[in-house]
Amino acid sequence: LRESVKENEPERMPSAKGRRKSVAHDASKGNKRVSSVKPFDLQPKKGKFGESSRPNQKFYEMIQDFRETLEITPLEATGLIESQRICVCVRKRPLNKQEMSKKEIDVVSVPGRGTVLVHEPKLKVDLTKYLENQVFHFDYSFDENATNELVYKFTAKPLVQSIFQGCMATCFAYGQTGSGKTHTMGGDFTGKQQNSAKGIYALAAQDVFTYLNHRRYANLDLCVYVSFFEIYNGKVYDLLNKKGKLRVLEDDRQQVQVVGLEEVSVSSAEDVIKLIRMGSACRTSGQTSANANSSRSHAILQIVLRRSDRASTLHGKFSLVDLAGNERGTDVSSNDRSTLVETAEINQSLLALKECIRSLGRNSDHIPFRMSTLTKVLRDSFIGEKSKTCMIAMVSPSMTSCEYTMNTLRYADRVKELNASSKAAE
Ligand code: ADP
Ligand code: MG
Repeated sequence: LRESVKENEPERMPSAKGRRKSVAHDASKGNKRVSSVKPFDLQPKKGKFGESSRPNQKFYEMIQDFRETLEITPLEATGLIESQRICVCVRKRPLNKQEMSKKEIDVVSVPGRGTVLVHEPKLKVDLTKYLENQVFHFDYSFDENATNELVYKFTAKPLVQSIFQGCMATCFAYGQTGSGKTHTMGGDFTGKQQNSAKGIYALAAQDVFTYLNHRRYANLDLCVYVSFFEIYNGKVYDLLNKKGKLRVLEDDRQQVQVVGLEEVSVSSAEDVIKLIRMGSACRTSGQTSANANSSRSHAILQIVLRRSDRASTLHGKFSLVDLAGNERGTDVSSNDRSTLVETAEINQSLLALKECIRSLGRNSDHIPFRMSTLTKVLRDSFIGEKSKTCMIAMVSPSMTSCEYTMNTLRYADRVKELNASSKAAE
C-alpha cells in the first residue's frame, strides 16, 4: 500500500538529508480510527467535553506509530566527552502547559546519538494525510527530559577547560522565541522567577572557579572577570552599567574593542550569579505577536581570564550568547517599521554568525566578521587555532512550530556540514 501511494505522489520540495514517509491508513480499508479525510485545519472539533477532541488526531496516531519503530539510544552521562573545535547540538523542550491544554501534537522525536526527527504533517492533493519524516544528525541531541546540567556537561563544560589552556571559546543558544534559549543559558523558570544558579552561565562559572584552584592551573596566577552586555538593533548596551550605550571600535590591527565595557572582577561563582541576575533584569524586550516579552536582542556573558601581571594580559575568554529569536520577518501581523528593522538586523547577524563559524571550520583566513555587530565583538573567537565554539539549537516540539523548527535545524545543519568535512580533511 505504502509504495503504491508514494508513486502517485507529486514531486515534493527537496529536503535535507534522509526522509522517510508514513502514509495515513486508507479509510476504506476499515480502519476504525479513520473517520474521514479532511484538511487538518478543517477537522471538526468535538464539543468542550468531547474526549477525542484533539485536533490532528490522525497525525498524532501516525507519529505514535512511527515512534514505535524507533530505536532509542539514551545519552550516557558518564560517556567520554570529546572536546571539538565546532560542536553543534539540538535540544528539544517539552510541550508546555498551554500547548498541552490545546492538545497540540509533538512532532519532534529525539532517538539519541545526535539524531533528531521532525514528523512534518502533509496533505496530498487528494487530501490523504502523510508524514514527511525529516532526519538530521548532530554531535548530540537532547530530548525533553534532559536537564540543564546534562546539556551543560556535553556542550559548555569542555569549553571551560579550554579557556584555561588559552582558548577563546563561544557557546550559542540559537532558536525560535519560546524554544528555551534563556531557560538553557540563564536558568529555568518557576513562574516568572528565574533560577539563575541552574543555567549554563552559572554552571560554567562554578567550573571556572573549580579549575582556578586546580593544581594544574594554579601557577598561571589567573584572575577572573565578567562582563555582560546585549546587542539590540546593532547597538551595544552594558547590562552591568545601567544599560549604557557603548561604541564598538576597530583599530588598524583589526582589534575590535567595546569601548568602556564594564569588566567586573569576581572571586566566586556566587559573585557571577549575582551579576547574571542584575544583568538579566535589565535586558531589552520588544513586542512581537509571537510572544509579547520575547527577546529581540542578543545577550552576551563573557567570563575572562587574565594574568595577574601589571598589564592584566588576556589568557582566555568564554563568551556565552543567548541569541535573539530566529523567527523570520514573514509575520504579517507585525509589520510596523521598528519590528521590521529589528528583524532585518537579527537576520543579518545570524547569517553573519553562521558564515563566521563556517570560516572557522574551514580554517579560512577570511572571517566575514564585519557583517554584523555580533560577529564584530566576537571576532577573537573566530580566528586561529585557539578558537572553539558550540552551538545549541533549541526547538519547540509543537506542530504549530514545525516550520520554525525546520528552519532552526537547517541552519544548525549548515553550521555542522563544514565541521564534518573539515574533520575529514584533518
Ligand atoms: P526563549 O529564550 O528561547 O525565548 P525561554 O527560555 O524563555 O525561551 O523558554 C520559554 C518557556 O519554556 C519558559 O517558560 C521556559 O521555562 C520553558 N522551557 C524552555 N525550555 C524548557 C525545558 N527544557 N524544560 C522545561 N521548560 C522549558
Ligand atoms: Mg529568551
